[in-house]
Amino acid sequence: HHIKKYFPIKGGIFKRTVGHLKAVDDVSFSVYKGETLGIVGESGSGKSTLGRVILRLLDPTDGEVYFDGSEISRLKPRKVRPYRRDMQMVFQDPFGSLNSKMSVAELIEEPLLVQTSLSKAERKEKAVEIMEKVGLRAEDRLKYPHEFSGGQRQRISIARALIINPKLVICDEPVSALDVSIQAQVLNLMKDLQDDLSLTYLFIAHDLSVVKHISDRIAVMYLGRIVEIASKDELYNNALHPYTQGLLASIPVIDMDGSNQERERIRITGDLPSPVNPPSGCPFRTRCPKAHERCAIERPELKAEGDEHYVACHLYT
Ligand code: SF4
Ligand code: MG
Repeated sequence: HHIKKYFPIKGGIFKRTVGHLKAVDDVSFSVYKGETLGIVGESGSGKSTLGRVILRLLDPTDGEVYFDGSEISRLKPRKVRPYRRDMQMVFQDPFGSLNSKMSVAELIEEPLLVQTSLSKAERKEKAVEIMEKVGLRAEDRLKYPHEFSGGQRQRISIARALIINPKLVICDEPVSALDVSIQAQVLNLMKDLQDDLSLTYLFIAHDLSVVKHISDRIAVMYLGRIVEIASKDELYNNALHPYTQGLLASIPVIDMDGSNQERERIRITGDLPSPVNPPSGCPFRTRCPKAHERCAIERPELKAEGDEHYVACHLYT
């Protein structure tokens, strides 16, 4: 295949607060042009931090981020600016991330004001165009965020992210704060926009149910590391890592004929250990039902286990 490597990313330990918090610890992966890579993990697994490092909202301690063939992780802030146009983020909380003193028009046009030299009329034209694309009414331009529902506010955030034609959009739990009935609508909209505008998505979520429909590939993170990465179908049908198997077991499976379909049931119990002081060896060993002696001693590396399927677990080496 001639899959274009689009955004190869090699992350390292970073973020120093009290002691060393290993928010993202030696993570390596690529995002291919036009795909959606789902990133799944519990809160505290480092997935949002990873998104911020890629956007250079945070600096990595170690490692590199490449975008379209150029390393951007060591660039001076001024030199990052042109890349900022190509990468946008949609945040989880459409209430907190929108300035309530700005009208919808001001919010949506702001990126154009900062990043381009378009005239007022041109900005308005583009804003109206993108509002229609995301399912907002152009006549609502002069309203304020509080006049909208959660789902509509997330549409405003999406319009804001897309108005400057980014290539990569990092979606940090964009539907988690929304009612379940609205989630599917926003996900479908995002899927349509992706096809329409040739977008690449990095889609961050805390469970596997949300990323199921939108992702082409999925990476599962645990304590700052990727423990498994595979195509969506491979991951749902042939999960190898005990943690992934546990995440899948917590999604209800209802068979069409009403019978109770049994997966190998792995229950994840206990809390996520502190990333300040992660377990020796395999980071998952304190909660893993299949942990054995070697798991405390040696850290499993991500290794190929089939076509484009990688897993970090001693059961497979
Ligand atoms: Fe479990 Fe050991 Fe595999 Fe870690 S390496 S997931 S502890 S079996
Ligand atoms: Mg988060």
